[in-house]
Amino acid sequence: MRRTTSEENWYVQESLEKLKEVRDQIVNFWNWQSAMDEPQRNMWIGDVQDIYYQLITAWDLRKQSAKEHSGYYNSVHLTLASAQSRFKQVMSELHSISHKRAAVLAQELQASFEECWKPLAIQAGIEELLSDKKMERPESVVNKIGNTEYQLLCSICGTISYVFKIGTPHHAKDKRLIYKGLTHTGDLDIQYANRVFEWLEQEKIAEIHRFMQKVRTAQGIDAYCPDCDKVYCCGHYFLDEVWDEGFYDCTYGTCPGNHRRMIDD
Ligand SMILES: [Zn+2]
Ligand SMILES: [Zn+2]
Repeated sequence: MRRTTSEENWYVQESLEKLKEVRDQIVNFWNWQSAMDEPQRNMWIGDVQDIYYQLITAWDLRKQSAKEHSGYYNSVHLTLASAQSRFKQVMSELHSISHKRAAVLAQELQASFEECWKPLAIQAGIEELLSDKKMERPESVVNKIGNTEYQLLCSICGTISYVFKIGTPHHAKDKRLIYKGLTHTGDLDIQYANRVFEWLEQEKIAEIHRFMQKVRTAQGIDAYCPDCDKVYCCGHYFLDEVWDEGFYDCTYGTCPGNHRRMIDD
């Protein structure tokens, strides 16, 4: 049965209240861990407070958007993604401690987080984003900005998902071939630019992916699914960050064709 908007709003508000209680319990729990050093305790307390803060922000953005202005979907989407990332981080922190209470708190956090996050995501139209309505399929995967810059576009919605350009990064004195993906940015010796740009002209993304695997990381172009031979944005290549004991470990991507691979390590 589908809830009305006011019922739905009431439900989200209730869930946020519950999440706030769980947050306070986790904060108390960390405050009692006197064996842990204080900076770490404070950091982990900050992390759990951040989850609640991000979700409240998403909720406020949603309320303001009755008139629906551009950029709204983007900012709610980013806030919800960042709440989810923080949630995974806090779960890994709670799991790093072998303590019965921490396990119970992790369970409670999971339940109450999902109760807030899911309806907010559905209301924010992320459901729509995932079911590729209102989207513009790009005519070509490669968008040439000029002789020194190329973009790779999401094959479903046309969002810029990867960039190659010639420029001078902060750390360098000379021009380099800069790449910017969904999860990381980096640069290569400029001698490779011609080869990469030639492949871009021919839309040979698989070729560039293999080349990046060879000269840079085993993950290659993070926005590219080799099984589909397609490029996806961060909304369509569903990103799943893995956190271990409060530290970022890696990111997996799952494409709309359900191919899953590690895209950042
Ligand atoms: Zn997309
Ligand atoms: Zn795929």
